[in-house]
Amino acid sequence: MKDYYAILGVSRNASFEEIKKAYRKLALKYHPDRNPSPDAEERFKEVSEAYAVLSDPDKRRRYDMGGFDSDEINFDDLFGGFGSIFDLFFGVNRREKRDRYSPARGNDLQYSITLTLEESFKGVKKEIEIEKYETCERCKGKGYEREEDYSICPSCGGRGNVVYQQGFFTMRTTCSRCGGSGYVISKPCRYCGGRGRMLKRRRIKVSIPAGVNDGDTIRVPGEGESGLNGGENGDLYLVVSIKEDPLFTRQGENLFIEIPLTFSQAALGDDFTIKVFGEEINVNIPSGIQSGDLIEVKGKGFPIVGSKKRGSLFLRAVVKTPEKMSREMRQLFERLAELEKKEQTSIWGKLKSVFVKKTV
Ligand SMILES: [Zn+2]
Ligand SMILES: [Zn+2]
Repeated sequence: MKDYYAILGVSRNASFEEIKKAYRKLALKYHPDRNPSPDAEERFKEVSEAYAVLSDPDKRRRYDMGGFDSDEINFDDLFGGFGSIFDLFFGVNRREKRDRYSPARGNDLQYSITLTLEESFKGVKKEIEIEKYETCERCKGKGYEREEDYSICPSCGGRGNVVYQQGFFTMRTTCSRCGGSGYVISKPCRYCGGRGRMLKRRRIKVSIPAGVNDGDTIRVPGEGESGLNGGENGDLYLVVSIKEDPLFTRQGENLFIEIPLTFSQAALGDDFTIKVFGEEINVNIPSGIQSGDLIEVKGKGFPIVGSKKRGSLFLRAVVKTPEKMSREMRQLFERLAELEKKEQTSIWGKLKSVFVKKTV
């Protein structure tokens, strides 16, 4: 007869609470899910057996009087049942265990992608490289290679649950050996170790629509991780960041660019063509434009995702003062200055009162 008190390390008059506490400590130490050493399973069975007897007032009384037969304990049920009591005690992912063999959707993946402003303007096809879990090609995700490596669970006989007695209660719980599937894999697939999935490096072609903005997320359906046990794949989410452009800036659907103008262009107006990411756009500068003025070209701004519309292109006039002048240019400016004096052309307007005296 085994000394169950010694196995649990408690005295013969230990209370139920003390027995439970001792079992809990030892079960944690020897549970095969946590302890990989070869004799852990044996030790776990032993402490579970001791607990099964000492936690049951009737069995304990008979054991104390020497009238308990350890043959009363069904080891398979005990192991299965106590694996689950372990779960009850410690709240170990019961749901996860139960769902171990049921279909589960693959994880979504997130990946950041950096685009130039031109790429986001035109839309672009990119090839990206990601690491993700995919269904094992060898076992097709089953976790075993040959049918004979897959068999009915010996703990629950394929029922997926076990019935055990605790005190006055008969309890039914998911079989911890097979996770509720009723089947066990005796020889896991050599390639994936029975997980059914493997980490793979993959190149994926993605199509970025024209008009995406900084911080936008693009969903690529089905390109996340493979599902488990026939579950559907997760999705891939691309988070867009856009590099600053040396010429253009974006504000919402509108595109801005600074256009340097000479005095004469600003004064007389001008027509010219500019290229915006390869697209030629005719611009008409009206006469008398001021530095800082905006010229709007409707429908030539950023494409709006999901529509055929586009925002506006805004040209910001920046009138440049000539830094170097030829003799002829200087003469023309001097002539212009004389004319301005004669025609009392003043740009001071309301400020006139401020400038009382000419300093030169
Ligand atoms: Zn495999
Ligand atoms: Zn089972």
